[in-house]
Amino acid sequence: MPFKIIASQCTSCSACEPLCPNVAISEKGGSFVIEAAKCTECVGHFDEPQCAAACPVDNTCVVDTSLPRYQAPA
Ligand code: SF4
Ligand code: SF4
Repeated sequence: MPFKIIASQCTSCSACEPLCPNVAISEKGGSFVIEAAKCTECVGHFDEPQCAAACPVDNTCVVDTSLPRYQAPA
């Protein structure tokens, strides 16, 4: 976990989808969604979350504060 996409702001540009190292992003119902269980916040792959870095709409790929932050395996 735990990035999420604010569906009402997503323009479905698809920029984020191929960048996710965990294939956690897919199109659903006209916007893109992140499968929370697959999102590792890009830890171990990149220095910053690739979806948030690539998204052209500010504050659209954001941390889902309702879920615990990802903890890398020790
Ligand atoms: S933060 Fe990284 S792992 Fe999580 S959905 Fe975005 S690109 Fe995928
Ligand atoms: S990069 Fe942003 S606007 Fe584009 S599909 Fe992903 S969440 Fe939506």
